[in-house]
Amino acid sequence: MGESSKTIKIAGGGIAGLTAAIQLKKSGLDPIIFEKESQIGGNRHGDYEGLENWIFDQSMNEFFGQSGFDFSQITSIPINRFRVHTSTSSSFMIHHHRPFFHMVKRGSGKTDLDTALYRQCRFAGVQFEMGNSAPNDCDIIATGTTKAAAYIRGINFDTSLSDQVHLLLGHEFAPKGYAYLIILDGKGTLATAYKKPGDNQVDPLQNSKDYFKEYGITISDGNPFGSRGSFSLPFGGLKYPYKIGEAGGFQDYLFGFGIRMSMASGGGAALSILGRHKEAKRVMKDLNRMRRLSFVNRMLYERLNDHQMAAFAKKLSEVSDPLTILSGAYSWNFKNIRRWITMKNRYEVRPT
Ligand SMILES: Cc1cc2nc3c(=O)[nH]c(=O)nc-3n(C[C@H](O)[C@H](O)[C@H](O)COP(=O)(O)OP(=O)(O)OC[C@H]3O[C@@H](n4cnc5c(N)ncnc54)[C@H](O)[C@@H]3O)c2cc1C
Repeated sequence: MGESSKTIKIAGGGIAGLTAAIQLKKSGLDPIIFEKESQIGGNRHGDYEGLENWIFDQSMNEFFGQSGFDFSQITSIPINRFRVHTSTSSSFMIHHHRPFFHMVKRGSGKTDLDTALYRQCRFAGVQFEMGNSAPNDCDIIATGTTKAAAYIRGINFDTSLSDQVHLLLGHEFAPKGYAYLIILDGKGTLATAYKKPGDNQVDPLQNSKDYFKEYGITISDGNPFGSRGSFSLPFGGLKYPYKIGEAGGFQDYLFGFGIRMSMASGGGAALSILGRHKEAKRVMKDLNRMRRLSFVNRMLYERLNDHQMAAFAKKLSEVSDPLTILSGAYSWNFKNIRRWITMKNRYEVRPT
């Protein structure tokens, strides 16, 4: 490992790499992050992303604390309500007293998540080498997406509209995925996350824009962005060199909530390097269960037609605790394990 036994080389300064680094540093090792961009967050677009509050049990404070960060130093906006739109029926407001998400901005801006984590790493004494590709002998590989399991296209814009969050479901807006519109503090993100559309070419972003225009929200100007996300099922345990975050396929296959999975996988690698193998194994076991169930949830989601999606959204809007329904889809219980056993053979690795 590394040049001396205490130097740990990490390729990639995204969420996963930063998390591994801060934990290693706080435990007395000397991590160095090699980031090819000139700034941390430089490959992101200033778009809003959500820290979901149903896949992991811990609160944000606990989770970030366990990951080595202070959540109170991170700018985030809790979201207790959002409106779901479907192409077949009227929209439904889903709300709860606990937040569904904490929204964060991604990028190298002053209040962006990446910048906040970077600052905390610097403060802890993590070293950085920016602007060059990582060397080949890194101990931890945290270089992000390799395969494409989903595609994301979006636009960031300024607006005078009030804060609001919308989810838009339906084949024409996001084939096998979902579109979202987030407006907070005068900044907006409209994006669609979808699996590659087939022959019947739809333009999901334009359709989503048109939908919201008709709804009364016009997005005329902005900065477009595009990206992709990768997911894979676990094929083995923690192995050297450690692949974490999306480089290791740690991603929620249902809706692409990869931030917390990336952080947890970074923590798992750090524990393993620190010789805390039992704890590392437990982290990875939990993460792998989440990955498996996210695959099951995606298989179930892809079976739904637009009417069934609308019925599900209606149900979530009517129940007293929608968050518990969402968490239930990720709990490793008898029903979900049976689903996993029935569906696991449908997994295929997609080419890049
Ligand atoms: C548009 C979009 C919206 C998303 N929305 C959400 C959301 O709402 N909620 C959520 O939880 N997740 C969301 N995700 C997923 C989440 O952002 C990712 O899962 C997470 O950021 C992955 O972190 P990572 O550290 O693995 O990779 P990344 O954040 O991609 O970091 C990888 C880093 O490695 C660097 N790098 C790459 N190659 C090299 C190299 N050879 N040498 C040195 N450095 C290198 C890159 O520049 C980058 O900084 C979204 C993703 C996208 C693209």
